[in-house]
Amino acid sequence: MNARQPINIAGGGLAGLTLGIALRQRDIPVVIYEAGSYPRHRVCGEFVCGRGLAVLQELGLQEKFIAAGARIAGTASFHSGQRDYRARTLPSPGLCLSRWVMDDLLAQEFRRLGGELRERERITVATLEPGWVRATGRRVAAESAPAKWIGLKAHVRKVTLAADLEMHFFPDGYVGLCRLPGGEVNVCGLFALRQPVPQLAVQWREILSGPAGSGLRERLRMGEFDTASFTAVTALNLVPTVGQPTAECSIGDALTMIPPVTGNGMSMAFESAHWAVTPLAAYSRGELDWAVTRQTITRQCATGFAQRLRWATWFQRLLMHQVSRELLLRVGNCSDSLWRVCFAKTR
Ligand SMILES: Cc1cc2nc3c(=O)[nH]c(=O)nc-3n(C[C@H](O)[C@H](O)[C@H](O)COP(=O)(O)OP(=O)(O)OC[C@H]3O[C@@H](n4cnc5c(N)ncnc54)[C@H](O)[C@@H]3O)c2cc1C
Repeated sequence: MNARQPINIAGGGLAGLTLGIALRQRDIPVVIYEAGSYPRHRVCGEFVCGRGLAVLQELGLQEKFIAAGARIAGTASFHSGQRDYRARTLPSPGLCLSRWVMDDLLAQEFRRLGGELRERERITVATLEPGWVRATGRRVAAESAPAKWIGLKAHVRKVTLAADLEMHFFPDGYVGLCRLPGGEVNVCGLFALRQPVPQLAVQWREILSGPAGSGLRERLRMGEFDTASFTAVTALNLVPTVGQPTAECSIGDALTMIPPVTGNGMSMAFESAHWAVTPLAAYSRGELDWAVTRQTITRQCATGFAQRLRWATWFQRLLMHQVSRELLLRVGNCSDSLWRVCFAKTR
């Protein structure tokens, strides 16, 4: 048997751990370097849907998510300002599971398969060498970017939802709610900031609850926030970067971020990991050189994600402006085919 070169992965989030698990299932030696530790909360809508579910199923992970309590999400409702649109059936159901449980489950599975997971080890080199994969998550927006996007999330109890997934839109952002196991609800929002919020550690509940008089505020009025689950990310770069020349092999958000409104980022993390497995396994066995390995993965991701990134960028723009948002939500509310097309094109 050929000696196998180890694959090193910087970042043990969804993309890095999924890739690590898939490579271990092929008996490839893998080391993952993770800056943080498990379990941990992450800013995320915690709603998985789209093609990534097939990847999870193929790797035997979907059944583990369900065994860990993942809830099947079959309906979604949209709310804008004072207006509530009717709950719709999702054209294909999703899964809701907290990142606290999900990332920890994947980390344990990777270790069970013999992978080496080094927690609290941050990779600081500017450009990764051959044999290394970057799965370090979101890229930071340039200082000069016009909108400063900030993401906030926390879990809340004693809240009743109109659908498995609720999306509430406001002039400068939106908040998604989804039902989690154990009676919890995840509350996660993306906001365009005009100026910094110096008191974020104090004001996050206020921001996440939406403007005064909104349906969201009413929904969360009696809710009990789990303070320990609060997390925030700033300087999000929502401009697609896939297809741009890079000297590294990247997957997940490190490759490109899809506007979170689509709820497809986790799927893209799983899918990009899946596309990386065969070339990396061949590289590890000495059958492919690094340049071809890297290019094969980059090309596959660029082709596989191009359409949904284009559509998602348009949706994000339309949904962030009041007139186009109301028009889209009203027409989508009456037209099943528009709802299905919007859903399909963004995943
Ligand atoms: C507001 C918001 C809501 C969202 N909602 C949803 C949703 O509902 N559904 C959905 O599918 N997607 C959603 N997403 C997107 C989703 O969270 C991401 O696409 C997904 O987490 C990407 O996975 P990843 O593994 O690439 O990155 P991450 O999950 O961010 O993992 C990256 C890992 O790398 C580690 N790391 C970073 N730097 C280093 C380093 N230098 N060395 C070592 N380790 C490092 C980090 O600690 C982290 O563990 C949302 C995103 C935001 C911002």
